[in-house]
Amino acid sequence: MVISMGYNIAIDGPAGAGKSTIAKRAAKALGFIYVDTGAMYRAMGIFLMREGVDMADAAAISAKCREADITIRYENGEQVVYLNGENVNGVIRSEQAGTMASLTSQNPDVRKKLVELQQKLAADADVVMDGRDIGTCVLPNAQVKVYLTAGSKVRAMRRYNELTAKGEACDIDIIEKDIIERDHQDMTREISPLRQAEDAVLIDSSDMTIEEVAAQIIALAKKQAD
Ligand code: C5P
Repeated sequence: MVISMGYNIAIDGPAGAGKSTIAKRAAKALGFIYVDTGAMYRAMGIFLMREGVDMADAAAISAKCREADITIRYENGEQVVYLNGENVNGVIRSEQAGTMASLTSQNPDVRKKLVELQQKLAADADVVMDGRDIGTCVLPNAQVKVYLTAGSKVRAMRRYNELTAKGEACDIDIIEKDIIERDHQDMTREISPLRQAEDAVLIDSSDMTIEEVAAQIIALAKKQAD
């Protein structure tokens, strides 16, 4: 199998479907770079929150987002997100950052800025990129597209396990409610809403292990490249 420069795998789906875990595994197995686009929206959400921008004020978000310099570096094989020179990899993982990301990602100027960055990364390298609009908008010509989903209860349980493993106190019902709310925001927004691309393969991971899902995606990439 020969996989040339610029081979793109797009993985979209709702919050907590396991996209990042699976994309990371598939990228490692294929020797590709993993690009987590949600991390970029999270960094932007943190920036706007710190600046005290009113999330209901679209013009203020459009103006302020220009001041956020979001860059991606790869250190020891891991994606590190820098916000105006600060490593924000830890800060962006909170549920609050996810909610802020979902609110700010509705803004066209935020999206334009981050989509350009994402397309640049994918043009220069073989990538597995995950997000909400990768197959539909960011990489419409991706060689492999996957729409990864799971039931909201399963997704809430996975997030709950992740957070409790880190020693964070949390409530599973609140997590599920937040997930449902965030999906609704992401699926009903005007620009680049979350939806399955016509040519994407649907994978429901509710009853699958991480290994099974990753293996299916790797097989799709290999089949396509043969
Ligand atoms: O995937 P993650 O949970 O980190 O994404 C956080 C939020 O960023 C999503 O809820 C969504 O609103 C936004 N996002 C987006 N487009 C992407 C990736 C994330 O709008 N490609």
